[in-house]
Amino acid sequence: MTIKSINNVPLLGFAAYSGTGKTTLLEALLPKLTETGLRIGVLKHAHHNFDVDKPGKDSYRLRKAGASQMLISSRYRHALMSETPEAEANFEYLLSRFDHHGLDLILVEGCKNIAFPKIELNRKEVGKPWLHPSDDNIIAIASDSDLDVKLPTMNINDLDAIKQFIIDYLAPSESATKAAAACCDTLSPAFLSVAQGQQKILDAVTSVHSTETVNIAQAYGRALATDIISPINVPAYTNSAMDGFAIRGEDSGREQFEVVATVMAGYGYTSSLQKGEAVQIMTGAPMPEGSDTVVMREQANHVGGKVSFNGATIKTGQNVRQAGEDLKNGQSVFKAGTVVQSPEMGMIASLGMDKVEVKRPLKVAVFSTGDEVQAPGTPLQPHSIYDSNRHTIMGLLQKLGCDIIDLGILEDDEAVMERAIAQASEEADLVITSGGVSVGDADFIKNVLEKRGKVDFWRINMRPGRPLAFGDINGTPFFGLPGNPVAVMVSFINFVEPAIKKMQGIEQFVPLKATAIASEPLRSRQGRTEFSRGFYQMDSELGQLVVETTGKQGSGILRSMSEANCLIEIAPNIDTVKPGESVTIIPLQGRI
Ligand code: AMP
Ligand code: MG
Repeated sequence: MTIKSINNVPLLGFAAYSGTGKTTLLEALLPKLTETGLRIGVLKHAHHNFDVDKPGKDSYRLRKAGASQMLISSRYRHALMSETPEAEANFEYLLSRFDHHGLDLILVEGCKNIAFPKIELNRKEVGKPWLHPSDDNIIAIASDSDLDVKLPTMNINDLDAIKQFIIDYLAPSESATKAAAACCDTLSPAFLSVAQGQQKILDAVTSVHSTETVNIAQAYGRALATDIISPINVPAYTNSAMDGFAIRGEDSGREQFEVVATVMAGYGYTSSLQKGEAVQIMTGAPMPEGSDTVVMREQANHVGGKVSFNGATIKTGQNVRQAGEDLKNGQSVFKAGTVVQSPEMGMIASLGMDKVEVKRPLKVAVFSTGDEVQAPGTPLQPHSIYDSNRHTIMGLLQKLGCDIIDLGILEDDEAVMERAIAQASEEADLVITSGGVSVGDADFIKNVLEKRGKVDFWRINMRPGRPLAFGDINGTPFFGLPGNPVAVMVSFINFVEPAIKKMQGIEQFVPLKATAIASEPLRSRQGRTEFSRGFYQMDSELGQLVVETTGKQGSGILRSMSEANCLIEIAPNIDTVKPGESVTIIPLQGRI
């Protein structure tokens, strides 16, 4: 998607090869623009490692001493310098750093491969090719050549003409940007961005209400239905954190102690520790009454019923875990909606509870449709393909801990299909199918959905996975995923998984994203989110994650998904990623 403005401040860039004199032109143009009253911000992209600071200045010294963000201010200006050693900040983030109230226009120098409106600059003597034939974002050309193009042209040496073009460009911009903003809010359901689709789906689904009480061992992956409040102090009693000798802290200066007993974990010392006495104690054993300090075994010299500590520094209270130090009786331990995983299982057990109340598992019905789709396990008929999608989907659902209702492949008979879908919507919390949802698809499934439910057929600005049907059948949420096997997985990860988490009662599911350095060029198309299958790993020399694609990216090639450990997400405003640039990855471990 082309970024035309940020917070109603229009953007305009100058695109040119180096050597064309962008900066010189801007320097001459800025006074002409500002004298008309325009307030202008400039974003400049530098290819090299620049520094605006000067060695020896206080700000420079503080940065070198470790400030990762340094804001320096005076009566005349202020500057925020942020260190970004991992990766360059992204374009929209940088734009967000401007004070938009104080600006009428942001001029951008550089950032050639990002989509925003630009004037192409070209000088014959520099001898570089034209950019406009392959860049839709170029809205005008300033050059010293005679051109026969549809775009407005200006002479690159006629600054007043360039100035006038910019002023005319800004004049209608306010209403235009408002209209653009309005159009995005009310985008027809036929065309949605990935984020818009995700939001609509999350707004439409709700958590299951029923709960059940299960043993801890059965609670893995489930959402807690209630808050967990600690019924005890943890630890329940004050105990030793070390193998060693328990003494009275006030005695610590003594030469020698008399060892009066040995206490193992699980036992106690029944008397009270007196002045000059020590009790040999093991980790986890309760502290004897009167003692408050433990000296570790390694510092002790224990001979014939006596112990001395060889002048070790002893602080009263050391190596002792106080009762209730981890959790106090009555303290809230987990909120409802927390997912029970290994640490939670252990913690719940440590409170003495053997059962927990969790949301019941989600029942999900899956079926396939399509004349060509055939169940595996039988000889392949002519013009047919085996049903892989249903099995992929069942794997994904299993990973999410759902109870699966496998409805198989529905017969291509409208009445049969209608009955099956109606029944699925009664039995299941969620119904998922794949295939037959493209606009213009003639499959039966569409008629049935239209009759039995309220389902929208969306086109999402993404690849793979553009067609997506979402809605409900008799009130039960329904997903119609695309038919292509890779598109099924990519759509599932982006849209179905977050919906399932919410329905399972899991609060705040935020799928992990990370940045990695691309080790090969990645092509995309502006205006849509591109998900490539990638393999990322730590590059020990770079000290960073690097990512490459898994080869052929056709949306029918399920192998590309099998070899991948991440999706590479290329945002709509980026068209090409060069090797060495950073990209967003969505790790898939634990999800597929
Ligand atoms: P459709 O969205 O129905 O046009 O399907 C797109 C592609 O996905 C076609 O090549 C279908 O044959 C294929 N496809 C549809 N359903 C399945 C399935 N259950 N398993 C494997 N491929 C499928
Ligand atoms: Mg089909």
